[in-house]
Amino acid sequence: MTASPPPTTAEELRGAGLRVTAARVALLETVRHGDHLDVEAVASGVRDRVGHISLQAVYDALHALTSAGLIRRIEPAGSPARFEGRVGDNHHHVMCRSCGVVADVDCAVGEAPCLTASDDHGFSIDEAEVIYWGLCPTCTAAPSS
Ligand SMILES: [Zn+2]
Ligand SMILES: [Zn+2]
Repeated sequence: MTASPPPTTAEELRGAGLRVTAARVALLETVRHGDHLDVEAVASGVRDRVGHISLQAVYDALHALTSAGLIRRIEPAGSPARFEGRVGDNHHHVMCRSCGVVADVDCAVGEAPCLTASDDHGFSIDEAEVIYWGLCPTCTAAPSS
């Protein structure tokens, strides 16, 4: 049995119907290697890979890749949007109120039960966005000033 090689980032972009540019390839790789990065962190990661790119170009590429389903945007209330490469599994997030660190949380019990709403109002539901808020271990341990 010969395993076919995994698609390159460029092939994934093409497969999603997107034009392949160096900036988009760098952005997708930055988001995937990062950990729930905000726009500033994505921009600096892209710049490390391809040199200067305007913030507007970063926003445009983030929008294109989010629409294509290659990356996911999470928008915690009252804090900047974050981007991640883990898509399509309806996982959730836990976020620290104090320092803003974010971690992945799998759905509470097994097969995404949160998608079975107690009343779906006739909607065909494909995503439940849950953010658990609290204090991370570092902030819990820090002496309050
Ligand atoms: Zn914290
Ligand atoms: Zn996540």
